[in-house]
Amino acid sequence: MIGFGQAGGKVVDRFVEFDRQTRGKTVRAAIAVNTATADLRGLQHIPKDKQVLVGQTRVKGHGVGADNELGAEVAEEDVEEIQAALDDVPVHEVDAFMIVAGLGGGTGSGGAPVLAKHLKRLYEEPVYGLGILPGSDEGGLYTLNAARSFQTFVREVDNLIVFDNESWRHTGESLGEGYADINEELVRRLAVLFGAGEVDEGGAVGESVVDASEIINTLGSGGVSTIGYAIDHVECEKGGLFSRFSTKELDETDTTNRITSLVRKAALGRLTLPCELNGVERGLLVVAGPPDYLNRKGIEHGRRWLEEQTGSMEIRGGDYPLPDEHSVACVVLLSGVTDVPRIKGLQQVAIEAMENLEEIRSQSDANLEALLDDGDEELTPLF
Ligand code: GDP
Repeated sequence: MIGFGQAGGKVVDRFVEFDRQTRGKTVRAAIAVNTATADLRGLQHIPKDKQVLVGQTRVKGHGVGADNELGAEVAEEDVEEIQAALDDVPVHEVDAFMIVAGLGGGTGSGGAPVLAKHLKRLYEEPVYGLGILPGSDEGGLYTLNAARSFQTFVREVDNLIVFDNESWRHTGESLGEGYADINEELVRRLAVLFGAGEVDEGGAVGESVVDASEIINTLGSGGVSTIGYAIDHVECEKGGLFSRFSTKELDETDTTNRITSLVRKAALGRLTLPCELNGVERGLLVVAGPPDYLNRKGIEHGRRWLEEQTGSMEIRGGDYPLPDEHSVACVVLLSGVTDVPRIKGLQQVAIEAMENLEEIRSQSDANLEALLDDGDEELTPLF
């Protein structure tokens, strides 16, 4: 997992922390890449020797200032330094690469697609992107950066999972607090999804455990994805151990209904990128929780419901047994989404911003001339 730029680094850093806290094994190796020394300093869980400062000769550790063309250039120039951080990673043991970046800024926006292209040329393993779209209040330049980066990034990765900050904005929160909450949401979803493909042989046995290849097949090769999520806390016996459930038989109909309703909530609730369900090409639903609460029938009902909603014949489903959890969570990965009004809106705003910037630039020389003009050229420059 490679975090490119500030947002990318923060999300990966939180992912590594989450993985450690839950004793997960989702992140085989984590790397952070940035042009700004200060951003790297804020990371707490990605080892120092896996933090790569690029573009030192160009920007001297001060970042690229939301210039994503410069971000792409420095990534291109210093790609070997990023590669050096990957050299001791046993790539044959990983299922895929994941590059995370905020698309509205400069470093990640420009650099992530460059790195994706490099990795795809070098490795057989799939390369996925996680692209974060800026909120609409961030303004024209960030929207323009995101729209251009989105187009480029999608072309370079096997699949681009999109997270839209706009849909997750809370009012009344500082940006810092807001991002911490948002990143938590994001990491939780990804952890259930990718953790599902990591279940140990000999670990808790589910009825139909999701395999890494099912995630890879759902993501496919090419396209855009979005993720839905819903969680339901389950009542806990006094003493708290789920192993005691055998004393109180769980009603199978309840369990089935709970799963079916969770699948609906996940798909119809807030998606990481809002889109129309109809026309989605592929899907995967993962139901995670205490084994007693997972049943094949519920997942099968949910799967069929999702087939109806999307019109897709390629909806996979499976479970992810987590014996110590006190909740049942459902993640729905929708891949090959095409009907996405938010992307069309983003592109429209980006085009307006671009025209506006060009107009201001084209007038800027003339405006400066007019400002310096003293009328009769009585004032002469010093030299
Ligand atoms: P870079 O360092 O130049 O790549 O730029 P940043 O990563 O700082 O910012 C790029 C965009 O990412 C911003 O416009 C925000 O929309 C978004 N962003 C920044 N920090 C976070 C974060 O912690 N979480 C999320 N979800 N988005 C962020």
